[in-house]
Amino acid sequence: MWVSLPELQSLIKVFYPIRAFIGQSDERLYTCFNFFLSSEILLAEKESIDDVWMQEALKEAEKARELDEVPVGAVVVREGKIIGRGFNQPISGCNPVAHAEVMALQEAAAHVENYRLVDCELYVTLEPCTMCAGAIIHSRVKRVVFGALEPKAGALVSQSRTLELPYMNYRVEMTPGVLEEECSEMISSFFRARREAKKAEKKRLKLC
Ligand SMILES: [Zn+2]
Repeated sequence: MWVSLPELQSLIKVFYPIRAFIGQSDERLYTCFNFFLSSEILLAEKESIDDVWMQEALKEAEKARELDEVPVGAVVVREGKIIGRGFNQPISGCNPVAHAEVMALQEAAAHVENYRLVDCELYVTLEPCTMCAGAIIHSRVKRVVFGALEPKAGALVSQSRTLELPYMNYRVEMTPGVLEEECSEMISSFFRARREAKKAEKKRLKLC
């Protein structure tokens, strides 16, 4: 991201009057400027918006952390609104399929009263596993956006490229690495704290 959302909004305010002025004087220059403006702004806008939704997914991950679950969060967005939220909760929910993505997809599907989520985008803090990649395909979301890579069990790029399997008759777009640093830190700080707690417990038991 080369510009934040508020910065982008102020840029638009400056650029549009300049474009109007050029339009009155030179038609070719106006066309070139217009092309540059729309492509750059659309790209920047998309990147900034991805950051905004990933922040929301991180808030969901925080809820998982509070329950001592691996902190992964997800949101489903449709027409600029969140219609599904979810966080990882298999242990506390006694539910092996309660991954953040599945929870968010279920809530979104209930919201639109349809098992297909076309025109929806899923944002998740960690690269999805095989089960979630399957759920993503079945839901027909348009695009999946994720933060950190999951080298051990990630099923979009790390261990397999499930979304690209030739027998899948539906293609989901994918955007990796959005707020990657924040999303990775969310996971690594959780496991760091867990290791330290285990160490402290071992030490305490030795002293007894
Ligand atoms: Zn999963």
